[in-house]
Amino acid sequence: MHRLIFRQKVGMVYHISICLSLLLLVNSAYTLADVAVTTLPKSSLVPGGIAVIPTHAGALSGRYRNQRITLANFDGEQYAIIGIPLNAEIGSQQFDLSYADGHSESLQFSIEFKEYIEQHLTISNTRQVNPNTEDMVRINRESAKMTRAFSSWDDSLTPVFSMQAPVAGIRSSSFGLKRFFNEQPRNPHSGMDIAADEGTPIYAPAPGIILTTGNYFFNGNTIIMDHGHGLISLYCHMNTIDVEPGTVIRTGDQIGRVGQTGRVTGPHLHWSVNLNNTRVDPALFLTE
Ligand code: ZN
Repeated sequence: MHRLIFRQKVGMVYHISICLSLLLLVNSAYTLADVAVTTLPKSSLVPGGIAVIPTHAGALSGRYRNQRITLANFDGEQYAIIGIPLNAEIGSQQFDLSYADGHSESLQFSIEFKEYIEQHLTISNTRQVNPNTEDMVRINRESAKMTRAFSSWDDSLTPVFSMQAPVAGIRSSSFGLKRFFNEQPRNPHSGMDIAADEGTPIYAPAPGIILTTGNYFFNGNTIIMDHGHGLISLYCHMNTIDVEPGTVIRTGDQIGRVGQTGRVTGPHLHWSVNLNNTRVDPALFLTE
């Protein structure tokens, strides 16, 4: 639905440009295309990293692997900000830009190998490692709900790419680890784990709007927050959830407390950050 509205707007801009002045086209295109930001995330051209690439242009929209990407205007320059999946192949990657006059172009960047080591965890509740048929129905339903949330696009919010750690705790460099639960291989770890005592407050690392909350089979008590233009964050295993869908959040607002709900080995916050529906390393957003 968002995409449909966007196309209509693009069509309108094009029409105006024919009828009126070039200046008007440039102004209109700017409000639709990129978002003016005060910070950029760190670029890291590896699987699970972020490509921050100057476009040297004023593109209206961009796509990578069939997902809309963030176009940000920083210091008068347009940048494509692209989340690179953990399963991306090493070497050349391509993304596409579209312009107000209807033409499009492809740009490329190259990613390098990054070693992610194995992590072996023992889960005493074996149903959380080998769910039964009933559990699988729930897991698939929740997975679809999360995919929908991660695909959200909100033009009205300005993404803030420099974030505060959501919990004052011990940050593990656990993003991307090849995970084994009870010696069975599972998906790589798609977030950062921050260990802290049960009940430790969790603060919003950046402004946004709460998209959805719920109790999930693997993730336990969960919040998904929209920061605008495809930047979306996830908070899991919480003890309490202190916000509701639609709550407007400022940096530093308390959104919940650390817990050990869902599949865990102890109390911690699992925090993940998404760009273009891709889980990337949250450390790339943290200010030191
Ligand atoms: Zn985790």
